[in-house]
Amino acid sequence: MRSKIIISVVALGLGLFGGAKLMEHLGREYIVNNFPIPSGTLDDKDVYVQEVFIDEKVPVKELKQVKNKAKNIILFIGDGMSVSQISAFRLFQGGPNSRVAVDNFPYSGKVLTHSANAIVTDSASSGTAFSTGRKTNNRALGVDVNGQPIENITEKLDKSGYVSSIISTSEVTHATPAAFIVHASSRYMADEISIQMTDSKIKNILGGGRKFFIPEENGGNREDGIQLLDKVKTNSILITDKSELTDPSLYGDGQVFGLFADEHLRDETTPENHSTEPSIKNMLEFSVNRSKKFIESGCRGFFVMAEASQVDWASHGNDFEYLMREMTDLEGGIKWALNYAKKNKDTLVVVTADHETGGLLIEPNDPRKYENLDIKFSFNTGIGRGSHTGVPVPIYAYGPGAENFTGTLDNTDVFRALLAAANQDNSGSCIN
Ligand SMILES: [Zn+2]
Repeated sequence: MRSKIIISVVALGLGLFGGAKLMEHLGREYIVNNFPIPSGTLDDKDVYVQEVFIDEKVPVKELKQVKNKAKNIILFIGDGMSVSQISAFRLFQGGPNSRVAVDNFPYSGKVLTHSANAIVTDSASSGTAFSTGRKTNNRALGVDVNGQPIENITEKLDKSGYVSSIISTSEVTHATPAAFIVHASSRYMADEISIQMTDSKIKNILGGGRKFFIPEENGGNREDGIQLLDKVKTNSILITDKSELTDPSLYGDGQVFGLFADEHLRDETTPENHSTEPSIKNMLEFSVNRSKKFIESGCRGFFVMAEASQVDWASHGNDFEYLMREMTDLEGGIKWALNYAKKNKDTLVVVTADHETGGLLIEPNDPRKYENLDIKFSFNTGIGRGSHTGVPVPIYAYGPGAENFTGTLDNTDVFRALLAAANQDNSGSCIN
């Protein structure tokens, strides 16, 4: 009896061992490569939901003193652009061993993007954090959580003789460009925002959005009935075609409004207009060259904020090809700025984003076959239309003061690091 049990146990043991060996022989790969891939929607994802507490006190990063100050500052904001959007663009344009413009920046870090009242920010509050150094509520532009105006970076730099330009590929009244010019309790107050822009000291305001300067009854978007485009034509200079960007010396020392589209640039519904719409590089080159004229007549230096607005829209829309087109446009601007800063050592170039959009993933197309080079790029916050996410965004810097854009920064630290680089002596405005 006892021997029978022993034989059975040994046989079982041998059987299990043999079975395992057989499995190993067939290869784990066989098993791994043949597990069924479950089908489903984003709603079926495994999730963990928890209420997150936001402490009112924001830690302040200790910055290094910048000895050689930046005469000029160019700030790029890729709206909705985190590491995944940049990585996807790198793979798309030349594979993993290619390099995109930001890869050549000597300093980089991460930026935390939450707002005063949300883990997931919108562009208004994050734009306000960059422009004023203060956390505010989502939708607020240049005002604090109580709605009180906060002096922004272009107003601060104006006091020390800087000339400023604001560029976007959305309508100029949109959240990010507006955060650097106006003070409004809501980003949706487009009528008020555009009026404040015409009253501002920003010398070049370039992007789309003609309709936001025209009353509804005349085919525009204004509800207040004000013919603001007439005010722009009288008090400022209106340009509407990219060919008008070639000679900045044509415009004297007035404020230039470049409104190159009814709404945003490269609007799919108005393809006939695309040939007259500028790239980010076109608008940047104009702003920098025009700023140099102001410097020749007494300004200390320039500040330019250029926003690739539609990186965000493409990611909201789960549209990868659209995303790559917008990343290409931004790349052209960054390359131009980096080249400029290499020749003009007194220029600081910073590239960052206000938040990530879409939860972009880079996966093997078949999750069982990593070595298959078919790569799946997918957006993971919603079917059809996704949202912003709360992941940090990268920041890259080149030039004087770039060393402060390293490690982990709050988005309000970015404002402080920009000002630490600038030459602030309150010598007075150079703009009349
Ligand atoms: Zn967005």
